[in-house]
Amino acid sequence: MDRGVKFVLDNFDKTLDFINNHPEYEKYKKRVQIEYSRIKYIKYTGNMYEHFLKFKGGNHKYAEDFKFLEENGILSNESLADYLKDNYSDEMDHYCGIEDLRVGNVYSNSEIANTFKCSNMGGMRRSKETNSLVLIAKHNNPLYDDQWTDDGILNYTGMGTENDQSISYAQNKTLTIAKREGIKVYLFESYKDNEYYYDGEVELAGTPYQSEEADINGVIRKVIKFPLKRLDQSKSLIIDIEDIEKSENEKLKEVRKFNSNEIKSRAKIAETENVSTKEVKTIYRERNQYIAEYTKERANGICDLCGKEAPFKDKNGRPYLESHHVITLAENGPDAIYNTVAICPNCHRRIHVLHQKEDVERLSKVIMNYLLSDEDKENIKKWEELFKN
Ligand SMILES: [Zn+2]
Ligand SMILES: [Zn+2]
Repeated sequence: MDRGVKFVLDNFDKTLDFINNHPEYEKYKKRVQIEYSRIKYIKYTGNMYEHFLKFKGGNHKYAEDFKFLEENGILSNESLADYLKDNYSDEMDHYCGIEDLRVGNVYSNSEIANTFKCSNMGGMRRSKETNSLVLIAKHNNPLYDDQWTDDGILNYTGMGTENDQSISYAQNKTLTIAKREGIKVYLFESYKDNEYYYDGEVELAGTPYQSEEADINGVIRKVIKFPLKRLDQSKSLIIDIEDIEKSENEKLKEVRKFNSNEIKSRAKIAETENVSTKEVKTIYRERNQYIAEYTKERANGICDLCGKEAPFKDKNGRPYLESHHVITLAENGPDAIYNTVAICPNCHRRIHVLHQKEDVERLSKVIMNYLLSDEDKENIKKWEELFKN
């Protein structure tokens, strides 16, 4: 094993040990474990370095949470890239080969370029050195509408951002003749910048066909669609639901740059014949049903936020309200009656769409009033710890 890799794995063992011995950091354990299981597949220092480059700069969304590590003599993700560079520079150019890539794992752009010896730009990258063609499906780019069908076919859009695409152009041609010429074709899918899920080797599953889509200037043009299927169907590719949601938001931002006529003309030619499906990974946070039910009973049919009556009754004739965590479970809020409210579906959507501080303040006060009238001293104390900072 590379010494740089060994160092990182040991460092993660230390991190988990530390968390196990310090219950105040228990809430970070899951995140460390997820990251640990991901990096265990990295075999070479160069790839390890690429991986931790993503964290460098400290603006990673969890960077603040892990400050305690360095204070305790363990390196955080943010400094691992630098550490590897300083201490294992001789092993830095040690990258994995194509056969070491694992379907479903996420790789960076330079990991891909280094592994396949291909360009680090473009959606179709030919490498003579490894006799391969690397395809990138960018799901956060509305210019390319690459959709999976239910029967495991990806309709991959060819090369060319302007005017009609041609089957004999550059890598479109390579992909068409790949099988005959013994060129191996590999697929990556991206939902956000510099993170690429590896799909493994793919091949043409049928004849390429033409379709109509808007080009970069908004002109409707002909594009080539390549039906692709994965060679090894046994390993399924599971995408993180958060990545998909983010990519849809990014696409939406691009779409909103157009005026309403442009949006209309694109919508009219867009047609999804087979709605694409994906296996996704979600984190399910379990909720206690006593807490949810008590919260609704406490509200007595009136929305805790807008003060209006529940908009309808459920099948059992009970006023329909939804239980909501004021500090969400995703933000490590507790599932407890000093953090839950019962609100109408309209208010509930609004809260999750707008994320307004005023709503948090208002709802926390509502909870406090319930606790006061119940003289629930214990939960009042916990409420204060939760909302006072
Ligand atoms: Zn309401
Ligand atoms: Zn909610």
